Amino acid sequence: MSGTTEYKAVIGLEVHIQLLTESKLFAADSTAYGQPPNTNVSVITLAHPGILPKLNKKAVEYAIRMGLACDSRISRYCIFDRKNYFYPDLPKGFQTTQDRTPICIGGEVPVAFKDGKTVVKLNRIHLEEDAGKSIHDEHSDESFIDLNRAGVPLVELVTEPVIHSAEEAMAFLTEIRQIVRYLEICDGNMEQGSLRCDANISVMKINDSELGKKVEVKNMNSIRNVGKAINHEIERQIGVLKGGAEVISETRLFDADRGLTSGMRTKEELNDYRYFPEPDLSPFEVSDEWLKEIASKMPSTPKVLRERFAEEYSLSAYDARVLTDEKEVAVFFEEACSKTTYYKAISNWIMGPIKSIMNEVTRKTIPITADQLVALVEKIETGGISFSLANKQVFPYLMKDRNATVEEALKSLGLTESNKEDISAVVLDVLNANPEKVKAFQNGKKGLIGMFVGEVMKKTNGTADPKKTNDLLQDALGKMK
Ligand code: ADP
Ligand code: MG
Repeated sequence: MSGTTEYKAVIGLEVHIQLLTESKLFAADSTAYGQPPNTNVSVITLAHPGILPKLNKKAVEYAIRMGLACDSRISRYCIFDRKNYFYPDLPKGFQTTQDRTPICIGGEVPVAFKDGKTVVKLNRIHLEEDAGKSIHDEHSDESFIDLNRAGVPLVELVTEPVIHSAEEAMAFLTEIRQIVRYLEICDGNMEQGSLRCDANISVMKINDSELGKKVEVKNMNSIRNVGKAINHEIERQIGVLKGGAEVISETRLFDADRGLTSGMRTKEELNDYRYFPEPDLSPFEVSDEWLKEIASKMPSTPKVLRERFAEEYSLSAYDARVLTDEKEVAVFFEEACSKTTYYKAISNWIMGPIKSIMNEVTRKTIPITADQLVALVEKIETGGISFSLANKQVFPYLMKDRNATVEEALKSLGLTESNKEDISAVVLDVLNANPEKVKAFQNGKKGLIGMFVGEVMKKTNGTADPKKTNDLLQDALGKMK
């Protein structure tokens, strides 16, 4: 990035998280994604005169979960506010949101940054309803409106301006996506828009004490595009300042195809939202009991699991992070570890063969059961079979049948103990076939042992146990002196 020594970037993110409730924030309409346009639209969503909204308790509970996961202060007395603006996909003419009393105040999200910082401070998390969707690209001179999404519950999470690079913003969003998935409050899908992010970006001279003018960038549909938009915008703003001009406070749209941002509206053109308390909804209170109940039913957060994995199973911080990337994998790891004490081997198998299979296929399910993995690991650890044989033959066999046992797999594959060739005989064969190499070994080229082991493995189709083979080879080579 140009000018990094002279300027620094300041970034604050606003993340919209679509809640996985079955019905909307103030109406019983379904929130299902991908339905035919304008089918989930009752008179409340359509804002007919005389309608009255009714608050969805589940949405409040989910917002509180997010707040608890981020160590926010939970507000006990909340009102909703009307944010007034006119837009075709907003039939009421206002959005019901929380302005002065957000459900969660402050808090922080754990993110390990290069500069040693370990948290991103939050300003607030509030509840609000989503707008409908305007569709401009289906007809050359008409626009369409789909109101299925209007009224779907969102929480908006707002960070303090404490992020300083695209990498940091991406790490933060990755953590947020992981948290909402762990909490089961949002599917975290940025492509479908259930997780959306607006980035507020400014640049300032390194030694200045006042923040620069910020630009808000919208329209990024992946974490990577958020990163690209931020990098582009930092470069652009530094260019503007270096050229002697001023950055204009405005909203810009990111164009993923061209990798750049373009102006949408300036601050001067922005609406005055004329917030005022929503008169159709009574204030709501969060009681001690309810808060306690929500806290007691909270799923673990990735941070809690990472710490537990490192401590209980003596995993490295790196392993603990990889194993908690996806909740399904973390749950699987814990299930396997409840059935065996070979924690490190279980972790290696998940991080190696299992993850690589999961990365190959589009449906990211774990290919074998915890019982199968435990049996396989124990078979290897107790010397029954080698890792490479287990990986190349037994694992693929188990993947085809979740009910198959390791014993059955070995039998079907012709790898049972009784079918194994006598390794000692093979060891001698290999040594007799390579007199030159044997001499070299005895003259000090001890590295040749690997080649001998390899030969024995080849001749036994991988059924020989490498440890045992090694011992037998050393033994035989010693006697041949
Ligand atoms: P607005 O009233 O324009 O929406 P807010 O104060 O609500 O502004 O902040 C919105 C977001 O912009 C927050 O995430 C905040 O951290 C971020 N932000 C505020 N000032 C700056 C700045 N100078 N540079 C970058 N981000 C900023
Ligand atoms: Mg804002």
